[in-house]
Amino acid sequence: MSMIQIMDEDLANKIAAGEVVERCMNVVKELVENSIDAKSTEIHIDLIDSGIKEIRVGDNGIGMNKEDAVLAFSRHATSKLKSIEDLFQIHSLGFRGEALPSIAAVSHVVLKTSDGTSGTLVEINGGKLEKVEATDLRQGTIITVSDLFYNTPVRLKYLRNPYAELASITDYINKMALSYPAIKFVLTNNNKILLNTDGSNRLLKVIHAIYGLEVTKKMVEIHNANDDYEISGYISYPEMMKNNRNAITIMVNGRVIKNNEVIRYICDSYHTYMPPDKFPIAVIKIEVDPILVDVNIHPTKMDVKFSKIEALKELILSTISSTLEKLTLIPDAGLKTVSEGNTTKVANYYGTYSLSDREYDIDKKNEEFAQFEKMSLSLEVAEDQDTITNTLQSSSNESEHEEKKEPRIKEMYPVGLVHGTYIVAENEDGMFLIDQHAANERINYEYYLKELSNPTPHKTDLLVPITLEFPSNEWIILKEHLDLLTKMGFEFEDFGFQTLLIRTVPLWLPKGNEELAIRKIMDIITSIEDFSLAKFFDHVAATVACKASIKANDFITEDDMRVLLSRLRACQNPFTCPHGRPTIITYSNYELERLFKRAM
Ligand code: ZN
Ligand code: ZN
Repeated sequence: MSMIQIMDEDLANKIAAGEVVERCMNVVKELVENSIDAKSTEIHIDLIDSGIKEIRVGDNGIGMNKEDAVLAFSRHATSKLKSIEDLFQIHSLGFRGEALPSIAAVSHVVLKTSDGTSGTLVEINGGKLEKVEATDLRQGTIITVSDLFYNTPVRLKYLRNPYAELASITDYINKMALSYPAIKFVLTNNNKILLNTDGSNRLLKVIHAIYGLEVTKKMVEIHNANDDYEISGYISYPEMMKNNRNAITIMVNGRVIKNNEVIRYICDSYHTYMPPDKFPIAVIKIEVDPILVDVNIHPTKMDVKFSKIEALKELILSTISSTLEKLTLIPDAGLKTVSEGNTTKVANYYGTYSLSDREYDIDKKNEEFAQFEKMSLSLEVAEDQDTITNTLQSSSNESEHEEKKEPRIKEMYPVGLVHGTYIVAENEDGMFLIDQHAANERINYEYYLKELSNPTPHKTDLLVPITLEFPSNEWIILKEHLDLLTKMGFEFEDFGFQTLLIRTVPLWLPKGNEELAIRKIMDIITSIEDFSLAKFFDHVAATVACKASIKANDFITEDDMRVLLSRLRACQNPFTCPHGRPTIITYSNYELERLFKRAM
């Protein structure tokens, strides 16, 4: 081979590297997926300076013989590039080895591997094979990639933000740990542990390792199926909300994917339980015939399209909302802030194997988890009995199902009012603070929603008809939706000149505020995006409920408080206002005693 050809190949590798390898995360992903393909049950990812200085991935997989170890870095030898569609048909992660030559072209790589019979060490600098020698090693592979982009300074510039590099690696490893709970993952940066799972094949333990005990306590299992899809996993109580969607993990047939529609269905299921700009924590596995999944051709994005998306939407919405409906969701005032991962110092995996803080840490975490499990087990038994009595009741008189529903919270007795805004209440379990506006809003919202969906609305004639004039752009939209007004119980005439004459209104419309309420409803009709009747009624109920509810700084009487609390208790979801803000906050007896140091 002449010098020129070698130069060409070198250049080609560098160019190709730019396409496949842009961030430290791409290197980590390639190496970790190789480890998974090699049937590893334990994978360690150790970074120095967020991977910018060094990325080391070690596994206990099948390893390679000498020949394969050398070939792994040759572009032409990297055999079978599988098509992306195959990813869902077969269990391999697909691109095995494809990016290794690209990584080696822009870094220093040391590969140590053993298939159990012989060990091999391969060293490559900037794509040039420098050393191949025999070495001994336990079975498995350790690849060390250091000084990424040392020979392509332009690319190196993009790696200057260590936080961004570390964040994307952590996010990726967390998601892999969630998709492979049977594999033990250990992620460290500068010898600090960021993730340490135990490979026990239990999803909840991985959630515990990633999000900590406070979050784990507030996760509920879901499982449901229809003809096309099966979903399972864990979702958080609404109080465990996040500011972004990073804590929503979706897997399809065992692979983490991105799909904005599915994320939206999950968030929609939390509608009125959570403010619209907040996101739950969720780990959801979707099992589906691969024929129904279409994969977007970009290896790093993993975006997919589902056929029969409506069936999936229906399954997610009904499963999550029925799960939330069964929970008691009063946030605890003593709730700690959510901690993520932990940063205990760790002895190096590849160095001495002395008993380290890491081992201690695992023991402590396991202990913590076992305690929690014992507790939740006894809770589950109790809940099961409840469900049995509930089902018995509901089957005996199906027609009155709605009315007969057991209240989801215990009775609370008012004690006083703070700032004309918060009701203080008590019962045998503890003390409660209730936001009077939010509570009233919830009561009114459920009432309006029920009235709105009544096919034969109750109406009342106005003594003086109301005339409403509209600008032409609104009038055009309104004309198309006049049937909505009829459905709601309005009777009116088109008065000409873009004017409606309203003679009859639904009975529920707040008295004395009819015109304002009608204006609001018109606003909603003319502004709502991708219109549906359910969405429309929901908007109307929430808007009118807010207008019609007691405000803050309104000093209501104790009788009013009593009525408010008992009506709140009768609500389907007494825990949040229609905008997702909490209505009740609790101080349990234990929490009160703890606060006053009567109990430790
Ligand atoms: Zn409001
Ligand atoms: Zn509200």
